[in-house]
Parts: sequence; structure tokens; C-alpha cells
Amino acid sequence: MSLGPQFTGWFGELKTIVAQKLFLPSADYVDLNNVTIRTHRGTTQIDHVIISRYGVFVVETKNMSGWIFGSEDDPFWTKINKGNKLRFKNPLHQNEGHIRALSNLARIQPESMHSVVVFRGDCSLKTQLPPNVLASGYITYVKNKRQVFFTEAEVARIVEAIKAGMLPKTRATHLKHVDHLKQRFESTTTCARCGSPLVLRTARSGSNAGKQFFGCSRFPSCRYARNVE
Ligand SMILES: [Zn+2]
Repeated sequence: MSLGPQFTGWFGELKTIVAQKLFLPSADYVDLNNVTIRTHRGTTQIDHVIISRYGVFVVETKNMSGWIFGSEDDPFWTKINKGNKLRFKNPLHQNEGHIRALSNLARIQPESMHSVVVFRGDCSLKTQLPPNVLASGYITYVKNKRQVFFTEAEVARIVEAIKAGMLPKTRATHLKHVDHLKQRFESTTTCARCGSPLVLRTARSGSNAGKQFFGCSRFPSCRYARNVE
């Protein structure tokens, strides 16, 4: 018997919630989930922001089952599950945008921010990925970051700045975000991340070698890429 994607998704979610409640002491870590903030280009939605003296952890979660293939620089990664292939945006690059937006909003030095990508669900990472891409052990990863960046007062200031800047968690906020995203990411002429022109390129390496995509003309300082329909 195999569990349906909905069940594994729900179970993955539950496991993460329980782990966070059990192992990240709330006195040391403030966890804000589903944070939607305004950017100069619309809105951006962040799954988890964990604020502590050890820095601000910006967590992008992916609910997926199957084998995951990707690399740090590849604009797209691939998931293979029961013979079905799915291409998706490199979540490390997505998270760079989240970090920039949060850094601007709450005036946080990017050096004190940690990007974390967490895969939930029944999946395994099949290629070499940086240590901040995890299929398990997420809480341990966070707890092992012990370099102190902030005082208690700075932590409180950052938490308040994010809370003050985040949009209320309403359905209207969510729909507005989806609408902004749709407009931005449908463009084949303008970079959805930085607004520079897009250019047609061909992937030279990785699982998508030979395939064409639209990439930002500011590459490598902006790594935005999108599919050619
Ligand atoms: Zn760009």
C-alpha cells in the first residue's frame, strides 16, 4: 500500500510542526509562519521566518515526494516520482529573493540571515546539494548555528518590524499575492525578480542541458529564469 500525496503531505507538515514545537525552545527562537510582505515588485510569501540571537532563518519548504535532482546554480531542479518528471524553480534562488525582501523590510544585514530549504514528504535528494538543503534534520541544522548576531533587544526589534510589515493572513492577501505572481511570472520580457530584460538562453549543464529558457540579462548577479512555453 502506498500513501497518497495528500496524506504524506499532511504527515510531513505534522512532523515538522511537532518537531518545531518540541525542539526549538520558544524563549530562544521566534517562529513566524506564512509571512507575506510587500516588495517594490508586488508581494512575496515566505513559509517560515525564525528569528533568534543566532540570526534570522528564512525557510522555504517544498512538499514533494520522489527523487530530487538539482545543483546550486541550476535555474531549475527536477523531481521524478513514479516515472513522472516535474521541473521546478531552484528553491535556493527563490529564497534569495525572500532574504532580500526581508532584509529591506526589517533592516537586517544579509550576513546575519540563513537560507534554509526543507523538503518534506517522502523524498530523497539524489544529487550533491549544499548543506542548507535538507530532507531531514532541519531543527538540528538550525540549532547548530551558534554564531551570535543579535542581542535580545535586536531580536525583539526585528520581530516587531516583521510583524508590523507583514500583510494580514487573510484570503484576500493570499489571492493578491497569487495575482501579483501570475502577472510577474507570465512575462517573457521582464525579469520577475529584478525588472531587467530577459534574454533567451540555452542551459549548458545539469539535468536540463540543451533546453532553452529565459534568463535575466543581469546574470550572474540575478539568477532568475523561467520556462519557455
Ligand atoms: Zn533579474
